[in-house]
Amino acid sequence: MYKRILLKLSGEVLSGEGEKGFNHENIIYLVDELKKILEYGTNMGIVIGAGNLFRGREMQELSPTIADQIGMLGTVINALYLKDIFEKNHLRTVVVSQVTSLPSIRPIHYDDINLYFDAGYVVIFAGGTSNPFFTTDTAAALRAVEMKADILIKGTKVDGIYDKDPKKYNDAKKFNMLTFDEAIEKGLKIMDTEAFSICKRYDMKILVMDFFKKGNLLSAVREENVGTLVVPK
Ligand code: UDP
Repeated sequence: MYKRILLKLSGEVLSGEGEKGFNHENIIYLVDELKKILEYGTNMGIVIGAGNLFRGREMQELSPTIADQIGMLGTVINALYLKDIFEKNHLRTVVVSQVTSLPSIRPIHYDDINLYFDAGYVVIFAGGTSNPFFTTDTAAALRAVEMKADILIKGTKVDGIYDKDPKKYNDAKKFNMLTFDEAIEKGLKIMDTEAFSICKRYDMKILVMDFFKKGNLLSAVREENVGTLVVPK
């Protein structure tokens, strides 16, 4: 069983696919899925996106640097929203970020992060990488390496990585396991190139799995055969 995981979730996990804002049912689903894992004392870091609020590339009327800063602030809004709902559901949670100074957000200090995990807190990393021109996939890769996670789990709406689009091709084949080199060779899109290259460089395993199947996250953390695992060798 993995002891320390970094879970990357798109903002749309909070709103529903293609929707904006917050859907309480979706967030309670997330809480229930997390509770199943936290029971085992798993150290849980979360990087949340902001696709349910703002994505830089969707704000074509703005300069990219400004649009991306708005996007990063969206991740802060999501993190605070989740912190409150998590705590109302008895999950102790801390939000850390370098991008804002707000009373409910703490700065990122490596030593403190270990203390939060030891005390059983969920740690939500807000604000992406703190830089425009990146996405929260890259933030997830960075945070996973920084917090020495056993694995980066990317919770998505598909149950793994396929050789071609399973929605378009009936004969699409799902991979159970791949190496980083095989993924590059086959031209498979798993995460942003930047995120992927950080994970490859620092031997950070990636698991791509269907977050919307009940119990799947727990199976993933138990190292059962779920989704597609991308490994160094
Ligand atoms: N963003 C950024 N730098 C980062 C992370 C995010 O500028 O390091 C901005 C970017 O505009 C992005 C938005 O924040 O579109 C929300 O992140 P993302 O698109 O990754 O959210 P998701 O699609 O995962 O919900």
